[in-house]
Amino acid sequence: MNAPTHALIYVIEDDPSIARLVSSVLQEFGFQTESFQTGASALRRLQTQGPDLCIVDLGLPDMDGIELVRQISLQSHAGLLILSGRGHSVDRIMGLELGGDDYVTKPFEPRELVARVRSILRRRAVAPGASHGEVRRQARFLNWTLDCAANALRSDDGAEHILGVAEVQVLRAFLERPHQILTREQLVGHRNLSPMDRSIDVRISRLRRKIESDPMDPRIIKTVYGAGYVFAAAVEWS
Ligand code: CA
Repeated sequence: MNAPTHALIYVIEDDPSIARLVSSVLQEFGFQTESFQTGASALRRLQTQGPDLCIVDLGLPDMDGIELVRQISLQSHAGLLILSGRGHSVDRIMGLELGGDDYVTKPFEPRELVARVRSILRRRAVAPGASHGEVRRQARFLNWTLDCAANALRSDDGAEHILGVAEVQVLRAFLERPHQILTREQLVGHRNLSPMDRSIDVRISRLRRKIESDPMDPRIIKTVYGAGYVFAAAVEWS
């Protein structure tokens, strides 16, 4: 019961009954909510007030939900929970690829949704740079520098990637323990990970596309079959 209280959550869902259900269960658990029926209205609001997390319905009337996930992850550091209908598995994977932290399939158990929200906020709270006033730290590996305060990954030749919260969490776990086999659970930061949960694999492939010269033949983040992953580069923290 140590969820961050008073976190602000945007509920972006055009179905009023689902929006009401989601908002009321979140409020019951102490969260503040704002509801939006369109992607455009949520993006407008995002310009003036940054929420801690956005719950995004993939089926919105005015814009593609995947595009909205992408826009939010580009424009804010908010956590992102995707709400999708059955049969949208491709969209879910796309959503995770583009910055979503997790997803819930409709119909859902309200408490399950709260549990997912809490888990994202918890990860976000421990993610480097998420809390204000934290000492600025940098990690160097090969020709890359991770700027923990900005969630930015920069290469010596000037390329820069702003990482999503979930991606930073995984990269940071690697950078703190290079050359060790880390299990999927260690990388995600919670136990009882379903073997079917693909979110870690999605994050790994997202990171590989950024840092590996050949993502199909990874040399930095290596898969150890049946065990987990190894970060195979020297890391220097400063
Ligand atoms: Ca909808």
